[in-house]
Amino acid sequence: LTLEQEMARRKAETTTKELWYFLNSQMDKLIRMGVGEESHVLKLKKDLEGYRRTMMDDFDALRKVNNADQWRLAKSKELGDLVQRRFEYLQNPTDCSAAKKIVCNLHKGCGFGCQLHHIAYCLIAAYAMERTLILESKGWRYSPKGWETVFEPLSKTCTEDSSASRTHWGASSDMDKYDVIDLPIVDSLYPRPDFMPLAVPDDLYKELAVFHGDPPVWWIGQIIHYLFRMKPNVLKDVVNAGKKMGFRGTVVGVHVRRTDKINLEAAYHSLDEYMIHVKEFYDQLERRQPNITRRVYLASDDSSVLPEAKSKYPEYKFIADITISQSAGLGTRYSDGSLRGVIIDLYYLARCDYLVCTFSSQVCRVAYEVMQTLHGDASNNFRSLDDIFYYGGQDAHDVRIIEGHPSNGDGVMEIKPGDAVGIAGNHWNGYSKGVNRRTGVSGLFPTYKSKDIVKTVKMPTYPQVPW
Ligand code: GDP
Repeated sequence: LTLEQEMARRKAETTTKELWYFLNSQMDKLIRMGVGEESHVLKLKKDLEGYRRTMMDDFDALRKVNNADQWRLAKSKELGDLVQRRFEYLQNPTDCSAAKKIVCNLHKGCGFGCQLHHIAYCLIAAYAMERTLILESKGWRYSPKGWETVFEPLSKTCTEDSSASRTHWGASSDMDKYDVIDLPIVDSLYPRPDFMPLAVPDDLYKELAVFHGDPPVWWIGQIIHYLFRMKPNVLKDVVNAGKKMGFRGTVVGVHVRRTDKINLEAAYHSLDEYMIHVKEFYDQLERRQPNITRRVYLASDDSSVLPEAKSKYPEYKFIADITISQSAGLGTRYSDGSLRGVIIDLYYLARCDYLVCTFSSQVCRVAYEVMQTLHGDASNNFRSLDDIFYYGGQDAHDVRIIEGHPSNGDGVMEIKPGDAVGIAGNHWNGYSKGVNRRTGVSGLFPTYKSKDIVKTVKMPTYPQVPW
């Protein structure tokens, strides 16, 4: 398969999806406004759903022509294996005392997903600067004895940061000459290096863009995969938990993030809003697999969600780990439940076939990232009720306009072919919001008239590690 071929196929599928978001929201609007007879609009909606189902099946068939699905999976595994071996090489220098290093600590005052993304950014910096990452994790809020009580150490040979010269990021104009650089949390990173997400190493991009629809997510997934290597006893516990819960076969993962997040960082969404998309997934799949068991892995920080789900949706089989973690895992150990709970939920959400969640939550974003390492291309296997995918602290994410559109005085801005638009979000109704870099105007535009810009950056190519 060629890049051109795959990009054309993916574009056609995205356009179809956007058409559906648009039609669906327009029809709901007609019903709300009382335009035409309601029964007529509802019938139209049902008829159009038939077209959509068939088109989605058509795209599924196209995706699988000549076993292309298997080919994508093999490519993803092959490239992923290369990247993992590069991390191994970087993290295990033969002479630790001579190795240049980057130091990060785990004291960022936030939840597990956020902390994982913090170390992920550190590992990206380490990879981009060819420096071994040293993680200081004593006193970690989730397990005070440190990261290594639960996860494999980031290095087998090099965990000491005592070196001759040391500086803080940005403190010197010539950082390269220092043996050790202390990295701050991403929020206070200045100057900003060019390797920050959503940038992708350019040597990987050439391969990656052919088989994967969202290269930055795949790349971040590989980073998280290296970090999220559990100790054998922890992995055993997690696997056993899955067997006990009955995690098997096709499963849709639903993550409902509530408690401390609501109103501060995200809006409340009822369980029904998530279940609409779960139903859509299974209705579509049932065409090819009649009588499929509708399994849903339900993860939440709100303990009222599971009982509600079980009583309201008896036609679904809910799988859940019942240890609910509060976001402040202060003073806990793995076995206390808080860390165990979120690890189990992340592990199984990532192993679902499809995710329905809010991408405003780092928990679901981590799951979506890891999911990419287990498939050929799972970049479409989600439905977010709020944000599009992003990485906290990322560089501006731009899209390229490929077809023009006039402004309409109703929030829709003017776009011209070639414009770059800084994307703020998709409204899942056919329109996205962004700022036009040419005009400086902020507004809506039809999503299908744009395509993603993937930023690639030259990073070390690790010639010592064979392909
Ligand atoms: P965010 O606040 O949702 O963006 O993600 P963070 O990971 O930074 O913080 C949320 C924390 O709340 C997690 O780390 C968990 O400790 C807890 N939490 C949130 N959702 C879940 C869930 O579905 N399951 C479990 N076990 N814990 C959760």
